[in-house]
Amino acid sequence: MNTVVFEICAFILSFFCIIYSVIVKRAQYSPPRDIIGKLSSQHFVFLNLLTNVMLSSLASVVGYFLELNRSADTVFFQHLFHIMYYVFHTALPVSFALYIMNINGATLGRKKSFFVYLLSLFMLSELLVLSNPFTHLVFYIDESYVYHRGPMILFQYLCGLAYVLVGIYFIIKNKAAIPKNDFLTICIAIIVALVGIALQAAFANLYVELFFEAIAFLAMMLLLEDRTGEVDPITGSGSRSAFIRNVTKLLETDQSFSVIGIKLINLEFYSSLFSGQDIDLILKNVYGWLASVYPSDYIFHFRNEDFAIIVYNRSEREVEEFANELLAKFNYTWQSEDLTARLEAGVSVIRVPEDSDSVSEISQILSAPDSWFHNGQRICLSDDINLIKRDILIEKAIRLAVNERRLKVWYQPIWSAETGKIVAAEALVRLFDPVMGHISSEEFIPLAEKIGLISDIGTFVYEETCSFISRNNIETIGLDYIEVNISVYQFVEDGIVDKLERIRKTYGVRPDQLNLEITESVSSDEAPNLNSRMQEMNSLGYSFSLDDYGSGYSNLIRLINSKYKNVKIDKYILWNSEKNKDTSRLLDSLIKIIRSLGLNVIQEGVENEAQLSRVLNSGCNLIQGYYFCKPVPEDEFLNFVKTFNSKKDRKK
Ligand code: C2E
Ligand code: MG
Ligand code: MG
Repeated sequence: MNTVVFEICAFILSFFCIIYSVIVKRAQYSPPRDIIGKLSSQHFVFLNLLTNVMLSSLASVVGYFLELNRSADTVFFQHLFHIMYYVFHTALPVSFALYIMNINGATLGRKKSFFVYLLSLFMLSELLVLSNPFTHLVFYIDESYVYHRGPMILFQYLCGLAYVLVGIYFIIKNKAAIPKNDFLTICIAIIVALVGIALQAAFANLYVELFFEAIAFLAMMLLLEDRTGEVDPITGSGSRSAFIRNVTKLLETDQSFSVIGIKLINLEFYSSLFSGQDIDLILKNVYGWLASVYPSDYIFHFRNEDFAIIVYNRSEREVEEFANELLAKFNYTWQSEDLTARLEAGVSVIRVPEDSDSVSEISQILSAPDSWFHNGQRICLSDDINLIKRDILIEKAIRLAVNERRLKVWYQPIWSAETGKIVAAEALVRLFDPVMGHISSEEFIPLAEKIGLISDIGTFVYEETCSFISRNNIETIGLDYIEVNISVYQFVEDGIVDKLERIRKTYGVRPDQLNLEITESVSSDEAPNLNSRMQEMNSLGYSFSLDDYGSGYSNLIRLINSKYKNVKIDKYILWNSEKNKDTSRLLDSLIKIIRSLGLNVIQEGVENEAQLSRVLNSGCNLIQGYYFCKPVPEDEFLNFVKTFNSKKDRKK
């Protein structure tokens, strides 16, 4: 059989692959474009690999036909094409090893000397080929113009084998740095190439090696080089999955780098003004600008409003400067065709591995809501990243606790100055996480409000309290009602009144056995239906307490107009009044004014006798604080109230 046909096929196949690869250039991360950068660029090395197959098969085919018509006239060209064959064939295993190392990140962060050592054997081998016209060590052509292998041909093959082994070593060593499917593809490609080499070695006239290799590389091109899913369809930048693959690769090869996140904070606002196409145009524009200031291979459209940039080989200070430079661009208006948008952005810098060393955590930090600007600024560095990481952990803990109904409700007594007894209590939620331990409500309630879980928590506490009231005859131990905190975010939801009513009726609880505490933590503009909803519930028999008075948006006019029964003065006002005379005067006046409106004043945070007499002297009539009792579990609470109130009865 005339096996030159295999080499012709190898040429056609590799030629096709090169054209396809060049036209459909995939979004890929690659380090800077100096010589090391080029050797470390997956796409560049892959094209190099294909070029070596194409040119060595071309040289082999031409050499074959020249030898068919050999004569004194052709001998020069016979030499020339055999040398060309060996030059490119020798380069094949090296580019194969480099390609493998590129895919799994083994070339990242390497110094020049590494590449010098790596390529030294290859250089020697090429030197041998190029000096062949004088030495005839690799091959020679005899007097009848017939080609023969030279004495050093074995050395050439051993060099090739060494590079294949280097490739295999790195594919196994850095296995975790690439997706499973990529690993399988490479293994299969290696096996196919090795079968070709073995066949050609076993049957001297069977020139199938290059053909098998071309097939292996075609498979690599279709499976490894085809990163269609890694191109963001909107902007053309790297997609979220490209980002994840690249970060995994960098992490698995122990690289230090930074990820800069850019969050277009007000994109949602423009989404409600512009069409989807217009928003795409804005995003494309942002990517276009980013790609003009930084190599596009590093830029990823991570999520709707989030871009991420991998910054490699820069000092911490340079990264921060770059982040500030990016931020500064968002002080200007963005113009795309006839669209004008004033985009606001927040920029975060995550240092890897110092701030985070897990791809899922980095992704979570990047997609964290605007809360990442803990410091109220538009740039978020290490300290803020740590706060976000804690938020992420707490969010996980809240979701788990809500799902598994692991939240607990504790009760804190409220003491009446008029009767000297415990007359009410506040129900307070408690979150105990198996890993993080007790998480303070002051920390997790605001987060639950932000992530939309407050309604579930609020409903749980409300239902637990109704169940508590129905299981225990609270009036017999002297309790009039239990206060339940209702977040404004929960209270303004559609259908909330029906829901609270349904639960209350299920447990057979009267509305006057409950009192709803509302903190006016948002302005009335943000909760326009708050008052009408309170009125509706007032008419059903519910009463309300205004919580944390003095810390939020509440003002006196609002107090006069609304239907509160109790006003709870913020504990920090009491505590500050001890240090500041003005605050002390303010506290006195507040208590007097609220009492004069006919409302009860509950002072929270009373921890000692001095504080107690201080607020009682000002006219405060209800007290809640550690002085009497901390929030405690149900049984402990019932025992405390029974003992406390019966002692009081005995004193009478
Ligand atoms: P809040 O509603 O103002 O509750 C009073 C907080 O002050 C409670 O903290 C209570 O333990 C604490 N406290 C009371 N007396 C003293 C005292 O003498 N000294 C000190 N150091 N602290 C005292 P907690 O339980 O950590 O709750 C914090 C906040 O979390 C609550 O403030 C409330 O805004 C929110 N929260 C708690 N449970 C719920 C709930 O079920 N739903 C909603 N929406 N919010 C809740
Ligand atoms: Mg409260
Ligand atoms: Mg309070």
